[in-house]
Amino acid sequence: MPDLPPDPHPVTSLDPTSEPGLWLVTTASGSRHLIDTQDPDTAPRVQRLPRADTTPVDGEFLAATLRRDSEWMPLLGAGWLDSMTGERGDGLRVGADAVLWLDLRGDGIPTVWRTTPVVTIEQVSERAARVLVRSALPDPTRCYVTGCDRENEVMLHLRDDPWGGADLCMEHARLAAERVRSLIARCGCGFCERARVTLLGMDA
Ligand SMILES: [Zn+2]
Ligand SMILES: [Zn+2]
Repeated sequence: MPDLPPDPHPVTSLDPTSEPGLWLVTTASGSRHLIDTQDPDTAPRVQRLPRADTTPVDGEFLAATLRRDSEWMPLLGAGWLDSMTGERGDGLRVGADAVLWLDLRGDGIPTVWRTTPVVTIEQVSERAARVLVRSALPDPTRCYVTGCDRENEVMLHLRDDPWGGADLCMEHARLAAERVRSLIARCGCGFCERARVTLLGMDA
């Protein structure tokens, strides 16, 4: 990660709800979360940085990027959990899984994200954070399917809880729609309404 200078003071634990700063938390699986607690007057927030390389799901084609990647979400709380010993506590700790309570739906009912063990906790500058966010974004004009270089033409709803979707070219959208036919058939969102008619040939 050439944009970030080496951190002279490695952080091994952090309570993001009380320590002000902009924090980059990297886990063993390579996922990265940016936690923003700079402003003591606003609630902490977190953003998951999508991985630059989208990973095919089912060994085939689907690289459904979670729609909530690259968005700030209110962070209600954070804890650590040692999956070997079962020990747990508040805040984050290098070597332990991170457990993040998020207000994904805006109704105060937490959605829990549990990560693989935290590898590093780094304090980053605002500028470094902006570079990170920008470089992590997939090219928005392309189909999300790995190896497909066509433009995206349609946004498809692919899973719930957490909500997931992807921008796809027409051909991959048709394939994906067949796979999640039952979801699309019963969902009332606009993406699914459109997909029923234009991709699955069903009545609206
Ligand atoms: Zn495609
Ligand atoms: Zn839907």
